[in-house]
Amino acid sequence: MAVKCPVCGKGELVAVDDIVSDIEGIIFVERGDRCNSCGEEFIPAEESAKMIKVARRLGIWGEPLKLRRKLSRSGRGIVLRIPSDLQESLGLEGDEEVTLSKVGKKRIVVEVKSA
Ligand SMILES: [Zn+2]
Repeated sequence: MAVKCPVCGKGELVAVDDIVSDIEGIIFVERGDRCNSCGEEFIPAEESAKMIKVARRLGIWGEPLKLRRKLSRSGRGIVLRIPSDLQESLGLEGDEEVTLSKVGKKRIVVEVKSA
């Protein structure tokens, strides 16, 4: 029985073994399912737990790696709020200097310089 994709509701999930996750520049290949319509990938919990374990051993697994945030407008500028768990894990006080680098078309890297 094919499983319908919970994301698009149209495609079916196909078992694959080539799901690529990039953690801090290190590529992990995992087994999971991929939707044959929208391409959304689903990694079973035990597979991602394995990857997290390896990543931890390599010292590249931080706390939350990817967080969704909405930008907001303030005056004429755009503001990105740092989530409090990220703030805590980085030990941010809120008066640090940061550098912003544009990486590719859709990625911004925020680097904390100093307090
Ligand atoms: Zn889909």
